[in-house]
Amino acid sequence: MPAPAPNAEAGAPFSQLPLSPAMLANLTQLGYHQMTPIQAASLPIALAGQDLIAQAKTGSGKTAAFSLALLSRLDVPRFAVQAMVLCPTRELADQVTQEIRRLARAEENIKVLTLCGGTPMRPQTASLEHGAHIVVGTPGRIMDHLERGSLALDALNTLVLDEADRMLDMGFYDDIAVVARQCPAERLTLLFSATYPDGIRKLSQQFLRNPKDVKLEEQHDASKIRQRFYEVTETQRLHAVGLLLNHYRPVSTLAFCNTKQQCRDLLDVLRAEGVHALALHGELDQRERDQVLIQFANRSCSVLVATDVAARGLDIAQLEAVINVDVTPDPEVHVHRIGRTGRADQDGWALTLASMDEMGRVGAIEQALGRDVEWEPLAQLQAERHEPLLPPMETLQILGGRKEKIRPGDVLGALTGDAGFSAAQIGKINVTDFSTYVAVERSIARDALRKLNAGKLKGKKVKVRLMDE
Ligand code: ADP
Ligand code: MG
Repeated sequence: MPAPAPNAEAGAPFSQLPLSPAMLANLTQLGYHQMTPIQAASLPIALAGQDLIAQAKTGSGKTAAFSLALLSRLDVPRFAVQAMVLCPTRELADQVTQEIRRLARAEENIKVLTLCGGTPMRPQTASLEHGAHIVVGTPGRIMDHLERGSLALDALNTLVLDEADRMLDMGFYDDIAVVARQCPAERLTLLFSATYPDGIRKLSQQFLRNPKDVKLEEQHDASKIRQRFYEVTETQRLHAVGLLLNHYRPVSTLAFCNTKQQCRDLLDVLRAEGVHALALHGELDQRERDQVLIQFANRSCSVLVATDVAARGLDIAQLEAVINVDVTPDPEVHVHRIGRTGRADQDGWALTLASMDEMGRVGAIEQALGRDVEWEPLAQLQAERHEPLLPPMETLQILGGRKEKIRPGDVLGALTGDAGFSAAQIGKINVTDFSTYVAVERSIARDALRKLNAGKLKGKKVKVRLMDE
């Protein structure tokens, strides 16, 4: 799916692009002498007015890529909102606003406004009345303005979804959909994301028009997956998983077993060792399955134990390790299992436990890989002592969800407002029909629980519990 190399190369000067002389001079002044790879790949497309999904890692210059595009489409004498950038958090929105302002200095009188929660609506409404060309904000607050009629989008010609994967992580899908539906159909839509989970595909199918894909990283770069094999006896096998966790200390691990019984046994062993582990198996109902996946994806559970069948279709962006508790008889399944780690710009470990009886299967894997696998003695790990592995986050379950009209922004607002926590301490927020799950740093979990139980959400008392207990 990667787009064919567009007609600009990384390191090429901005002067190759159809930009005004004033803008080129401004870029030089900012010290932007050459395009970064994502800019070189996406600007020719976006400046030509074509929808785009761009994927590149943090710090690669994505902000200027979409900002130059939206600025080039601005009719400055016309005082109406012509471009909108949706961001996951207030901090990111502030950064984007700053970058747009620096780039907009090439022309006079371009007004950029930040619209985020956590500050009163009224001053924002007043600023909007004075007219703005570009608004940058979080989906929740933008939606509030749309509902109150303080923000009109009929002159909008560019919509940008920045850090789209993070917005989805934070449960903003529905809000983004509401906002996007209020934008004129005739528009340019640019979607930027560091990873490419399923939700992004869904978003782009709904709200982008024949987008070009620009991808600067191989998502399944096999070189980022480091494989190691350990020989074990049957009596060592389950205990060896704990040794691997203690040695590699991955935040999130998917542990594959060949049978459901093995999954159950492993779960018992890990829990007895104090590891926060959950299992995915066929007997879970939909709600239980959601709860398991939410806790694993939001980093409040270290290990997810699963069979190949149960793990089918799972899309987890950050996975530091895959452990093959049993060797699969099918080498293709092995390659599929280990391909789940080492995504995006992250390294991943693929660790396999093999008994003498499984050496034939290892041979088949070596054949499929076209090389020998690397062995390490288990004894090396047995000698180590570590603190028990703890997940960085804990999940709070709020009894109340979509049916109560709770939105991620409400929860984030409650925790960062009166409760006094910083946005950096809050992780993913998942809103389901009847419950809302919010991940918070382990160190503040009890405090957050107490404050949410004592306070109000959407003006109402809510019941909150820690999911670990
Ligand atoms: P991303 O959104 O991809 O994480 P940013 O847009 O925040 O990255 O850019 C990272 C940094 O690179 C910023 O400090 C920005 O000012 C700088 N930058 C962007 N484009 C260029 C360029 N062409 N030349 C030099 N610096 C750049
Ligand atoms: Mg960015």
